[in-house]
Formats: sequence, C-alpha cells, structure tokens
Amino acid sequence: MSPTEQLAIAAAATAAVASIGGTLTYAALHPGSQLFGRTIIAGNNPLEAALTYDDGPNDAVTDDLLDLLAAHNARVTFFMIGKYVRQQHALVRRIHASGHLIGNHTETHPWLAWQSDRVIREELQRCQHAIEDTLGCAVHYFRPPHGARRPAVFRAAEELELKVVQWNAMGLDWRPIGAERIVANLDRGMARAQQRGRGANLLLHDGGDIAMGADRSATIAATATLLQRWSQQGIKPVTVDAWG
Ligand SMILES: [Zn+2]
Repeated sequence: MSPTEQLAIAAAATAAVASIGGTLTYAALHPGSQLFGRTIIAGNNPLEAALTYDDGPNDAVTDDLLDLLAAHNARVTFFMIGKYVRQQHALVRRIHASGHLIGNHTETHPWLAWQSDRVIREELQRCQHAIEDTLGCAVHYFRPPHGARRPAVFRAAEELELKVVQWNAMGLDWRPIGAERIVANLDRGMARAQQRGRGANLLLHDGGDIAMGADRSATIAATATLLQRWSQQGIKPVTVDAWG
C-alpha cells in the first residue's frame, strides 16, 4: 500500500468515526431524536400547544404563574426537580389541585447522558418518590434534564413506567433576554411545528437548577402574552398527556 493510499484509508476511517460520533451525539442530545427510544413531543393537531415549565417548584415564581394560568383557565405541565419538591410540599399540592400535570425531572438535575446506570436509576427514583409521597398518586411523565439521554435513561424510565417527553419549541428563558425575545423564540418553534402539521410543545422554566428562587418574571410575562394571543387564534393549551 502506498503512503497516499494509507493516508486515504486513515482519512476515511476518521470520517466514519466522526459520523458515528455525530449520530450518537444527535441521539443523546437532540430533542427530536427517537434513536434511543420513543419520546413524546407533540400530537398532529397544529392548534394544540403544551406549555411546559421545568426546574421548579420555585417559591419565588410558581404561585404567580398559577394565578395567571387560572385566569386563562389553562392547564400546563410542570417537570419538577425532586430536591425542590421536598422543600415545597404545599406548592406542589396547589399545582396538582389546580389541574396541572406534574412530571419527573430527576432529583438533582444532572446531565444523564454522562452518568452511570446506577446514578440514573437513583435520580429518577428519588424524584419519583418525592412527588408521589407529596401527592399520593402516580407520576407517568419524565423529561431528562437538558434533554440529554442514552439507552440507560430509557431503561430506568421504563422500569418506573415513565414516558419520556421532549419539546419542539424553546423559549431560551434561562438567558436574561426579556419576555419579548422569549415569545419570539417560541413563535419560531411553533411556526416550524405548525408547518409540519404538528402541535407545539414549548419549553419554559419556572425555576432554575442551581438554586431555589430563580427570577422567572420574564417567563411569566411571556406566558401572559402567549395565552392572550392564543385565545384569539383558537390555539388550545393542553398538557402533554394529550399526546400519549
Ligand atoms: Zn431542567
């Protein structure tokens, strides 16, 4: 084999490895990937939209959000961090009593794609127990922190009879960008989903994974804008269990 041929083979091998690596990264991180297991994103009615709020409950914000949602008679989905659930039993019960759907978002919000099987199982179990002990009823939905997952995440979710939920519109509201830009980001995601004849599953946050008390006033303002507009556009807020 000539040095040129050796070089060509080495280059081809590198390209193949890069491509496999890219596929796995896509499967682990892209919210639309179905490669490692089935995930719920949205249904086939473009007039349905699920507002989802992650990383709470948050005693600084969630009560105000509940008041706003009640004023619009809108039901939404909360993916909660277990360690916060343990600190906010009354708030979690109020969310449940208001008719919203509550899901598991792990105990401490790690990147599950890089954790051992044992840690993944513990993270899901501890959050599951925190919510179920607080409410006295079963939880059936789970969103992995950062959307990151691998086969062990699906196995652990299956053991706990949890359906894995992703999203197709992102507010990017963990950045300090203000309500208008949060709405603009969500509008882009919704428009893409509607073009494909799909409902919208909107990712927002009523809390923060670093500590309780994150300021999410911009998220609440963005929610108010969306709900007002949707009532005129005939878009119906749903919870993610409408889709599976
Ligand atoms: Zn999160």
